[in-house]
Amino acid sequence: MSAISSSGDTPIALAGAAPRRSRQARVAWGGQVLTVGGDAPVRVQSMTNTDTVDAIGTAIQVKELAQAGSELVRITVNTPEAAAAVPHIREQLDRMGVLVPLVGDFHYNGHRLLTDFPDCAQALSKYRINPGNVGKGDKKDRQFAQMIEIAARLDKAVRIGVNWGSLDQELLARMMDDNARRATPWDPRQVMMEALIESALTSATEAARLGLSPDQIIISCKVSGVQDLIAVYRELARRCDYALHLGLTEAGMGTKGTVASSVALSVLLQEGIGDTIRVSLTPQPGEARTQEVVVASEILQALGLRNFNPSVTACPGCGRTTSTTFQELAKQIDDFLRQQMPVWKSKYPGVESMKVAVMGCIVNGPGESKHADIGISLPGTGEAPAAPVYIDGEKALTLRGEHIAHEFQALVESYIERRYGHDAAAGEARHG
Ligand code: SF4
Repeated sequence: MSAISSSGDTPIALAGAAPRRSRQARVAWGGQVLTVGGDAPVRVQSMTNTDTVDAIGTAIQVKELAQAGSELVRITVNTPEAAAAVPHIREQLDRMGVLVPLVGDFHYNGHRLLTDFPDCAQALSKYRINPGNVGKGDKKDRQFAQMIEIAARLDKAVRIGVNWGSLDQELLARMMDDNARRATPWDPRQVMMEALIESALTSATEAARLGLSPDQIIISCKVSGVQDLIAVYRELARRCDYALHLGLTEAGMGTKGTVASSVALSVLLQEGIGDTIRVSLTPQPGEARTQEVVVASEILQALGLRNFNPSVTACPGCGRTTSTTFQELAKQIDDFLRQQMPVWKSKYPGVESMKVAVMGCIVNGPGESKHADIGISLPGTGEAPAAPVYIDGEKALTLRGEHIAHEFQALVESYIERRYGHDAAAGEARHG
């Protein structure tokens, strides 16, 4: 019997992310509001690695992260000096026109810093509170309540951010003891996952009891294993409708960190789980902090959830290409598009969904170029030294000679101006 089934008349089901079911949270600052969850797009966020006491250096890095596409930026608030610097960072950002909300990351002494530095409490738009790090014994509830009451009074959002590396040890010990009394004890990993969720949800219930509106609450339960993260967030999404901050903690460096985060986040986002994401990459020596924002944006763009930058399709190259010209051109065009986006975002609305193809030979080059808005197919080994350019699916011209890269970049720029520029928008308006 054949193992091949016929298609019949049924078309192939199109794939796409399942709808998200979370309640919407609001992150407000000045006259601005950023929504997270509900029908808001999945937000990209990041965290600085500067010393917060260095207000100028931190403001500059926040600006770089925001320009790369981060819609919320978290800063460490760990000392009185750091808390004192926060309002200056906010002022500096406002002066530079950087409209991004600041999130304060608090551990151990957040209750004191938020109380002793009211300007810091006011300048932040959101507080990250880790229930495992708010204090021990009877201090824990009191200090947690102190932070929540400030957030409720100042209308600040709160992320209840549980992390398996700093899980509430008293809760975990109690749950391990209860587990030992089960007729069939669970695997310790399952108890740990249950403790993460329990810690987050009981803290959220307590925050709501203390007066924090559910639309000010965002939850996260981070672990560093891909399968564990998927298991925890599936369960978290099943048990609550709070907006969820999604991220793999301590993802690692380079390829490993990028792949682990992409795999874990993609599975969950495809299931409609996750309202704001952070990719916790350890920067490699010399690598920009903004790389984590680039990766987070690319994950959302690859899943078709959002468009941030024009996409450049490039073939991997093979034995048919004898030079690196097409790789260099692909990189040059990609870098150029990314560098321009902070300006183009408002100047050329819609340009973020443009597709550019840079291909290495005629095997797939013309076909892929036709599917792009603008594409070029460079000559492979033994092919005539000519590079056909396709625009809107039609062959438009052929480039030859030494300056193909430069000329193609100029063609891309004029295409953008024509298709997304002011005249294009006015033309569309005229034609209804
Ligand atoms: S398009 Fe040509 S050069 Fe690129 S991978 Fe395919 S065969 Fe190789």
